[in-house]
Amino acid sequence: MGFFAILKNMLPSDAIQKHFRLIESQKKALKKLGLETLHDLLFHLPLKYENINDIKNISDLKKDDVAILYGKITGLKTRKAFRSNRPIAEGTIEDATGKIKIIWFNQPYIAKMVTNDSAVKLTGKITGSDKNLYVANPEIEKTEVLPTETPDSLFTTTPHLDSFYPTYQNSRGITSKWFYHKIQKILSSDILDELADPIPVEILKRYNLPSLKTALVWIHTPQKERDSISARKRFAFEEVFFIQVAKQKERHAHDEEPSFTIPVEKKNVTTFVKRFPFVLTTSQDNAIKEILDDFKTPTAMSRLLEGDVGSGKTAVAATTAYAVTATPPKNQNFGNLQTAYMAPTEILAKQHFESFIEYFAPRNDTVSAPVFIGLITSSGCKKFPSKVDPTKATDISRTQLLKWVQNGEIPILIGTHSLIQKTVQFKNLAYVIIDEQHRFGTMQRQKLVRKDAVTPHLLSMTATPIPRTLALTIYGDLDLTLLDEMPTGRKPIITEMVTNDAREQTYEKAREQLRLGRQVYVICPRIDEPDETKATALRVKSVKEEAKHLQQNIFKEYAVDILHSKMRPNEKEETMEQFSQNKIQILVATSVIEVGVNIPNATTIIIEGADRFGLAQLHQLRGRVLRSSHQAYCFVFTDSKSKNTSDRLRALKTAKNGFELAEHDLKLRGAGELGGRRQWGMSDIAMEAMKNIKMVEAARTEAKKIIEKDPLLKKHNVIQKHIDEKYSDLHFE
Ligand code: ADP
Ligand code: MG
Repeated sequence: MGFFAILKNMLPSDAIQKHFRLIESQKKALKKLGLETLHDLLFHLPLKYENINDIKNISDLKKDDVAILYGKITGLKTRKAFRSNRPIAEGTIEDATGKIKIIWFNQPYIAKMVTNDSAVKLTGKITGSDKNLYVANPEIEKTEVLPTETPDSLFTTTPHLDSFYPTYQNSRGITSKWFYHKIQKILSSDILDELADPIPVEILKRYNLPSLKTALVWIHTPQKERDSISARKRFAFEEVFFIQVAKQKERHAHDEEPSFTIPVEKKNVTTFVKRFPFVLTTSQDNAIKEILDDFKTPTAMSRLLEGDVGSGKTAVAATTAYAVTATPPKNQNFGNLQTAYMAPTEILAKQHFESFIEYFAPRNDTVSAPVFIGLITSSGCKKFPSKVDPTKATDISRTQLLKWVQNGEIPILIGTHSLIQKTVQFKNLAYVIIDEQHRFGTMQRQKLVRKDAVTPHLLSMTATPIPRTLALTIYGDLDLTLLDEMPTGRKPIITEMVTNDAREQTYEKAREQLRLGRQVYVICPRIDEPDETKATALRVKSVKEEAKHLQQNIFKEYAVDILHSKMRPNEKEETMEQFSQNKIQILVATSVIEVGVNIPNATTIIIEGADRFGLAQLHQLRGRVLRSSHQAYCFVFTDSKSKNTSDRLRALKTAKNGFELAEHDLKLRGAGELGGRRQWGMSDIAMEAMKNIKMVEAARTEAKKIIEKDPLLKKHNVIQKHIDEKYSDLHFE
């Protein structure tokens, strides 16, 4: 078959290897990237664009040029800098026209990332004196291009290219250039005619967005920078729009389901609230009001309660759960509607169980009826109150607990994932509370909500501060309540930025706290020492090494232990249990301790390599020690001397809450800081759109309009198909 015949017969669903000869390493690379069909390849979008004018011959380089160089690398070695003793990696790059020195400061591992005589591409700034030029801290990439190949010959297949050309994610086994050429071939076939544009034309017109075909051509082969921006905007809009359509559709279906109407006696709630050993903040008050208002309507609530660590979400959960349990089932004047409260870990579930016992235990006030509370986790079940001692909880068998839940005698059931097992049956489940909801998949959440014929009210809670645009997108099906105020009377945490010079003093301050009987967290950005041959190698502290060092050299008289994500769940729980009993005084951990564990005796947190973390994340970590009336301390270590970093970290001292910091992250470090597909199920392109509130709102408005008119998408086949294909996996996160 001739070449053009093949081009004509390309179908989007064809396997890549049907049309392109692949060697083993390329097959592997494609598989790793999840690319199987021509369609996948076509939608493998460039990471960025480079200007062909930036590709320079080495002989033409001048001081202050920012240049892209292709060549052969030699003379790789590491050494210490002359005065500062800083580690330095250096080498030389050579092309057909000349050679120039390369220096990487503070990145000695680079010398081990590539080998002498390999073909590389460098992107970096030319500095030094005119006689002694060098490339400083360039980005380096291995390429297939041989040094004899001059830059001009790189793009000969695309004479129409102006100056912009796309670069694709390089993967072991496949280069950016391979993607470029293959995608160009697909574009020159008639495959584009096979693709239906899932965005309705009116919407494209309204927001001046290019059609699918145009956008694909523009994104892979932009004539001007403007084209690529336009195309990226379209793909960003598309993704946000479809997430919105999917969420709005879910929401609409949910609103159609009947739920429990819960008339609330204000008097009772007021009495219940008096049981707390504190006065509610205005934010907590408002949140409770919003939730109780939702209870009064016949449709099920779907609400997200977002509040910083320590903002008091549990009290909101308890008060509203009380309102539910104080209500008898329909057509009955006895018994209680039921509440299920799910937490991501056993420790948290137990903590909630204990708080609820404190709030719900009978006492001399007008709050009516003793309330039974159950606890279900994989390691056992409990019930409050015990028949023997009505002030305490007692262990009971799972079978017994499940029986009482099923016949409605236990109105409040608190637990871990165990709650969603089939064997757990409720009589009148009217209210589902999910704590740290981002820790559960959508599927798990829905399993709990869909336990019964009647849809219960849903309260999701989270302490993950994210910008408004992202919240509107990923929580498009939920109403939002913010707890943006901390309880009064807490001593504000003392946050200090420290450098290595002040290490001794910092440890001394931590020791003062330890002497007072308090505990300390130390956070490191990574678990193990780096494998220096990997590109990800960074010079930052690791949990394992740091724990060893602290135990042996700094805090000999205290127990130091570690916690990180690679430990088994029961190991983690065990360590947390010991920390909560103060058998461990210093816990060295990665950011896994972000999750809402309440250890009021831990008052100091030391964060190493702070520039590696986003502000919102640092803020959440700091929240770990904000759990008591003791003065709390946060020491933030950074080696970075850059003004940007110190400005950024300073926001930790000034920002009022986590949401403000999340907005800072978005502005100062970009959407990348917020995590993409891994965390929120969104691509990098859509994450970029999170900077653009107008676009997010437009996508939401359009999605709502469509669902209002056509809630089952009967008249919008293309949209429905697109959602099925792309977003059905959202349910499995
Ligand atoms: P989070 O929102 O992180 O789940 P919690 O509900 O665990 O926070 O509350 C943190 C601590 O603050 C708890 O010890 C709780 O008793 C206390 N607390 C909650 N609300 C208030 C308030 N209005 N005033 C004072 N302390 C409060
Ligand atoms: Mg909590």
